[in-house]
Amino acid sequence: MATQPDDEYAEALQRAHTHATEWLHSVPNRRIGPSRTADELLEGFAVPLQDQPIDAASVVDELARLAEPGLMAMPSGRFFGWVIGGTLPASLGADWLVSAWDQNAAMRYATPATAAAEQAAGMWLLDLLGLPAGCDVGFTTGATGSNLVGLAAARQYVLEQAGWDLPAHGLAGSPGVTVFVGQDRHASVDLSLRYLGLAKPVEVATDAQGRLLPAALAAAMDASSGPAIVCLQAGNLHSGASDPLAEATAIAHAHGAWVHVDGAFGLWAAASPTHRYLVAGVETCDSWATDAHKTLNVPYDCGVAIVSRPDVVRSVFGVHTSYLKTEEHGPGDPFDKVPEFSRRARGVPVWAALRSLGRSGVVALVDRLVAHAQSFGTRLSRIPGVEVINDVVFTQVCVSFGSDERTRRITARLLSDGTTWMSGSRWADREVLRISVSNWMTDDDAVAQSVAAIERAIAAEDAR
Ligand SMILES: *Cc1c(COP(=O)(O)O)cnc(C)c1O
Repeated sequence: MATQPDDEYAEALQRAHTHATEWLHSVPNRRIGPSRTADELLEGFAVPLQDQPIDAASVVDELARLAEPGLMAMPSGRFFGWVIGGTLPASLGADWLVSAWDQNAAMRYATPATAAAEQAAGMWLLDLLGLPAGCDVGFTTGATGSNLVGLAAARQYVLEQAGWDLPAHGLAGSPGVTVFVGQDRHASVDLSLRYLGLAKPVEVATDAQGRLLPAALAAAMDASSGPAIVCLQAGNLHSGASDPLAEATAIAHAHGAWVHVDGAFGLWAAASPTHRYLVAGVETCDSWATDAHKTLNVPYDCGVAIVSRPDVVRSVFGVHTSYLKTEEHGPGDPFDKVPEFSRRARGVPVWAALRSLGRSGVVALVDRLVAHAQSFGTRLSRIPGVEVINDVVFTQVCVSFGSDERTRRITARLLSDGTTWMSGSRWADREVLRISVSNWMTDDDAVAQSVAAIERAIAAEDAR
């Protein structure tokens, strides 16, 4: 009777465990880049869909075989591309349980276990990041989703302050909202503004590290009137620097604006007594976006949206229908705080990550990522012809090898070498090699091997 599906689960999960273990064993030694393109892999995946079912274990085996040559070793300690975290063992284990439990984590009364775990994770996060205890915490797919949440709450609040009922009347005919952002913001901020039907933001000048200039913000806000949102950044993609949060927030609040912070990875500076100075004043802002899948090393996808006014975020995202029994008071239902209706319990791996690290482990994780970034900065700046072009204050390092052309060529050689992966990018009007240290597995040896790979790429280019 019930034995057959049980066996099918057991067999499929056992195969998945074997393949997952083989993958994890391969990561420390394999070349970082994939060895096939998506087009090449498609030939294997996109066979004509057969008529008859195939047993679950065979499907899992086939999937693992087809995918293997196209996997990027993102969980490797030698992966420094984009801003990509690895996976802590406890959070990976928790993630598997989340899938097996298959809870639709929307409502407290329906899925109390995941709701309680996520609520606890949210409380720990506020504590670790030094944010006000009464904030609402929602678990999104990433900082893009979290920027959307914070900016949606901001839009609603500032329009309401101006006497405009957004849920009733929509944006058309409203007083409009002006958004102020630093010139060197992340593209996902503009994406969120597009989702929200808000006009292109007013760009505020930044300094050489990409930090918004408070005097320029004050001047721009003085020259504007009406409802306003200021979107600040904690953690510039290229420099790792943060906007002067305390000063900029004071200016914004004096103008009646809501302050949202995109702190996808940089907000984690707040957890470290050594690095908290980078985000001093962060607790005075109104909403915050961060990722758990970057600095905290929780598996994809997991972002955190934090809003200081629960009433506002719940009035934007809350749902009340006849068939959903929701909680009006108290902590609120998980789906009142994020765009999704149905979703996996993605906050549970956050609980597991924090529980396994403990308070000191979180601090040590952040401090270690910064220390390795600074080690890259120091070692690379000693190599002739290499220029580290940012102040390495957090986890990001930007390097130029001279001309744009030379930087591009050395970057291409480095990636084909396979020892490490770093992003080619453009910053401050120059081609750069960008290194983001975001993986808990990165150690001194990974840094040394990666620096050696850069030296090899330079030597090969010079021997050309
Ligand atoms: C990564 C990042 C984002 C986007 O986050 P996702 O998790 O990819 O959605 C936004 N802002 C900054 C500064 C980032 O580094």
